[in-house]
Amino acid sequence: MISGGAGKRSGGGPAKCKRCREPAKVEVARANAAFCADCFLHYVRNQVTKAIDEHSMFDKTDRLLVCVSGGKDSLALWDILMDMGYDTTGFYIALWTGEDYCSESRDKCEAFAEKRGGKLIVHDLKEDEGFTIEQIAREGRRTPCSVCGLTKRYLTNLAASQGGYDVLVTGHNLDDEAATLMGNTLHWQTEYIARQMPALPSTHAKLVKKVKPLYRVSERETAAYSIIRGIDYIVEECPLVAGNTQIRYKDALNSLERLSPGTKQQFFFGYLDKAAPLFAASDPVVLRECNECGQPTPGEVCAYCRAKKQLRAKTRPAVEIEEVAP
Ligand code: SF4
Ligand code: ZN
Repeated sequence: MISGGAGKRSGGGPAKCKRCREPAKVEVARANAAFCADCFLHYVRNQVTKAIDEHSMFDKTDRLLVCVSGGKDSLALWDILMDMGYDTTGFYIALWTGEDYCSESRDKCEAFAEKRGGKLIVHDLKEDEGFTIEQIAREGRRTPCSVCGLTKRYLTNLAASQGGYDVLVTGHNLDDEAATLMGNTLHWQTEYIARQMPALPSTHAKLVKKVKPLYRVSERETAAYSIIRGIDYIVEECPLVAGNTQIRYKDALNSLERLSPGTKQQFFFGYLDKAAPLFAASDPVVLRECNECGQPTPGEVCAYCRAKKQLRAKTRPAVEIEEVAP
């Protein structure tokens, strides 16, 4: 049994695969189904295909930059897209949230790329940007996760834009999306809710289209997929995860999911079907180019340039931060 427990069902014998009737190996409680290993892989790929088609994410002519972290979600997604014949390149950022964690996650990405014959681009925050997320956590003046999130958004878009990629692909899964929606809804951050779509079109020449093809697949399902496929991913969580507010929303949703399988799916899919069109009606943000780096921003100077300026001002001379090249 890989995850979820597909053993004996109440009132019946061993569970059978919903698709081929062979003995089941993986339970998908939210779909009230269990699958053998092969049919489970088919089920996951089918969910990704549905996501791509329903949101017109990309086609075989597009060049995709796939953000990978060494974790199960992003490597599973890269694996699926390669198998489907898409033109993919992996993009890994060494964030330095912890020395060992960083080396291991980078190793996992490099080993995966080598094994699958995929191209991987590595961007090292310490070498290329002059700071690390661990350093921000140590100084304690800014929340590491907020700087980390901002840095990832900025650098992934920059890499995709400068590399001439058509679409930026991330491994956000159903659990991530439901937790983010819960956080945004509890705080009624309507502008964030409006942008929480599986596909965000480009609204500026330097802003690359962003998509999340795993939004229909849960975290446990990507783990099961990776195990069946023999993908060697980093199991440990980021050493700074305790400061991530999303974790408490994930915990709350996991409790609800245990009592009522399908809660996350109902919440997020229900938002997409019923609420997203209402939020989307609000005025779109008009973007211009940052006065310092030339990247798209609603203001005069982008949030990344402002954050780096603050960091440089607060950082001791020994770890001075250089300005980002546009
Ligand atoms: Fe970055 Fe926070 Fe996620 Fe760690 S937990 S990778 S610091 S956002
Ligand atoms: Zn800037």
